[in-house]
Amino acid sequence: MSDNGVPKESPVAVAVDSGGTSAPVARFQSVQRIYRMGDQEVRALDGVDLTFRAGEYWCIVGPSGSGKSTILNVLGCLDRPSEGTYFLGGEDTGELNDDALSELRSRRLGFIFQSYNLIPQLNVLDNIMVPLLYQSHPPADGEERARELASRVGLGDRLDHRPRELSGGQMQRVAIARSLVNDPDLILADEATGNLDSQTSMEILDLFDELHSEGKTIVFVTHEASVSERAQRVLVMGDGRVCEVRETARLAQELAT
Ligand code: ADP
Ligand code: MG
Repeated sequence: MSDNGVPKESPVAVAVDSGGTSAPVARFQSVQRIYRMGDQEVRALDGVDLTFRAGEYWCIVGPSGSGKSTILNVLGCLDRPSEGTYFLGGEDTGELNDDALSELRSRRLGFIFQSYNLIPQLNVLDNIMVPLLYQSHPPADGEERARELASRVGLGDRLDHRPRELSGGQMQRVAIARSLVNDPDLILADEATGNLDSQTSMEILDLFDELHSEGKTIVFVTHEASVSERAQRVLVMGDGRVCEVRETARLAQELAT
């Protein structure tokens, strides 16, 4: 047994694939992420196979240290596998150099973090436009798009405000608008409601529900059960491995209608 009670030799054959017909957006083949510190080796990801398909809403749960953030960082091209392959869309990210990977990240991915990660010196409008700065060919209508997204998250009358003039919920709304400005294939959220009170969390989760109903693909890391039930499927991590995949009542409800 490992520290957190997950059997070390648990079978890795848990299929992380809905088997649906929509195109795979992200696919891991036997992904490992190993940190070496002196003669110590930490297997943050220890052989993960997964497929997330277009339009799916996944949550990743598991104890602290089980590899949740590492999965999200690899999915987000902020980190690379030590072994194995990560396909984003059809592309093998292992074939890309760091510049090509950044370009892919700025075109295909949206990020939402627990601590918002807004730029304090920039106002709401400019914060929303930040991902476009990293694109080699930013869209001509970027500012118009950012304005629309600000309105969409309820901040149309706050465009000139700086982050310090906003509440936590408002800052997370800016972060959500920012994650959408490049019309990403995949939205990645790490404990996105972790710093918010329960009422504000609900409002933010309602926004995620809206994105899901518009067909966005979402992967949300959380340790809160109430949050994971909003997704369609829950991937349970333990010790760098996938322990279980569970379908939620939400999915059953969607399939019934
Ligand atoms: P979680 O998000 O589930 O809490 P992480 O993915 O952050 O877990 O970490 C998984 C494991 O990898 C942990 O044992 C953690 O200590 C280790 N780890 C994460 N990042 C690093 C790093 N930069 N250097 C060394 N070990 C790390
Ligand atoms: Mg984490």
